Amino acid sequence: MLFSGRSKKLIGSSQNDLYDHCLQFYGQPPLENISLTEFETFAVERLKLLKTVENLGVSYMKNSEQYVMRLKAEFSNLNFPLKTELGDRKVQGGTSEYEKRRKDHISHFILRLAYCQTEDLRRWFIQQEIDLFRYRFGDLTSKHKTDFLHKNNLKYETVSAEEKKSLKDKLITSSYGLSGITVEEYDFYKVPFQDALDLVRTRKVYLLAGNAYIPHHEIVTIVLNDFRTRLSKALAVSNKIGAPSHNNQCSPLEIHFHAYVGQDYSIQKNIGKISLEQIDALSGKSFPLCMRHLHKALRENHHLRHGGRMQYGLFLKGIGLTLEQALQFWRSEFVKGKVDADKFDKAYAYSVRHMFGKEGKRTDYTPYSCMKVILSNPPSQGDYHGCPFRHSDPELLKQKLQNYKVSPSGINQILELVKGMHYQLACQKYFELTHNVEDAGFSLNHPNQYFTESQKLLDGGREIKKEVDMSQRSQENPANMTRPSQANSKQAHEEMGDLDSFFQDE
Ligand code: SF4
Repeated sequence: MLFSGRSKKLIGSSQNDLYDHCLQFYGQPPLENISLTEFETFAVERLKLLKTVENLGVSYMKNSEQYVMRLKAEFSNLNFPLKTELGDRKVQGGTSEYEKRRKDHISHFILRLAYCQTEDLRRWFIQQEIDLFRYRFGDLTSKHKTDFLHKNNLKYETVSAEEKKSLKDKLITSSYGLSGITVEEYDFYKVPFQDALDLVRTRKVYLLAGNAYIPHHEIVTIVLNDFRTRLSKALAVSNKIGAPSHNNQCSPLEIHFHAYVGQDYSIQKNIGKISLEQIDALSGKSFPLCMRHLHKALRENHHLRHGGRMQYGLFLKGIGLTLEQALQFWRSEFVKGKVDADKFDKAYAYSVRHMFGKEGKRTDYTPYSCMKVILSNPPSQGDYHGCPFRHSDPELLKQKLQNYKVSPSGINQILELVKGMHYQLACQKYFELTHNVEDAGFSLNHPNQYFTESQKLLDGGREIKKEVDMSQRSQENPANMTRPSQANSKQAHEEMGDLDSFFQDE
């Protein structure tokens, strides 16, 4: 895929041919140039769609009425293709079917690159894409299903009317939900049995001379097997040649992918909304497990390593800690451990100021999204950062949840979700259990979102506002703040370059 600052129309008829059916196997990568804005929008929207697929998949029976209704709504919200006829007229102010198909095609390839990097990511991506495909294939008319099969060279032999007649009884007894009339009406396909192992295993088809006789409505199983095989091979190839870490052309992908937060949780919105005295109580009530874990580790060890300080520091900034509060918070904790006040001022205060955009490049760093926490920089020994649902051993996670008084059945539900790699859904379940609600009512994608939703639910934020006026007067005394000298700051910045490298002190 090429990237440029301008968006261009598709090149050549072969690209147009890709869109003559609303569904595709994504066999050919897009060859056009796309703008970075489009790149970001497409990636984020497909990710949203796949997250909805994941969410609905654990909440409802796949293909149940609710499942189909909600997925259909998300399709049309996000402008992904559903219509079987191409037609290129725009609905007033809307997106044409052609543009939707193009978006479907390109966005699939963008996420394919992002999700080819590890086994976990590949598995998650394949599962969601398969579920998405199943829904879309099921939504096609019989004619469009056949068109799709032919277009993709899945030309299975149709069983002749005579053969169907001679095998009628056997087809009825071996295929689920068929009667004499439906056998006559339905098309049956002869497929080599090794291509239909799922149906053979569940004894849903008639077998004869190495062929499985598959009724039209079961052909989706064969198509899905094919799609799974193609996608898994394609991801392995992408990992070898095109993963973002191997190919600098794709670096914007990582930026935008990790930056998908759904909402901006920057400091400006919440500044000054909490007091330092509230943090201990809030960590138990409203912090997601990752931040609760970091807070506990900080209080116990009076220190956090680089990854933990970044993750927790930016989260605290996002929930409303001012720079002065942050300095006081980190300083008071670190001096209880092995770092004396002088060392803190020299080695750490600058980095806190940097985090708030007051030093160096003056970048206003934003808190990490769940995706960033889950996908990057896994914790090693002595680290407390990361996502406990993703990075903790299940046994340790279980103990942690027991300590936090989560019920045994709740723990089982969470562990099931973790086993299925639905880490954010596991976190959402933790939210529901610890807030005593049946449905969290939001789709979690950010630790700060967790905090905000928790506060809304607990007391609409009244508790915070009530206390902050009292506490701000006593705690925010600038005389207590020790800043490094300008000379020290400048030297440190020159030596260390940026925030990330500055924080690498262990
Ligand atoms: S899912 Fe997100 S908010 Fe929850 S623990 Fe993991 S990183 Fe934190």
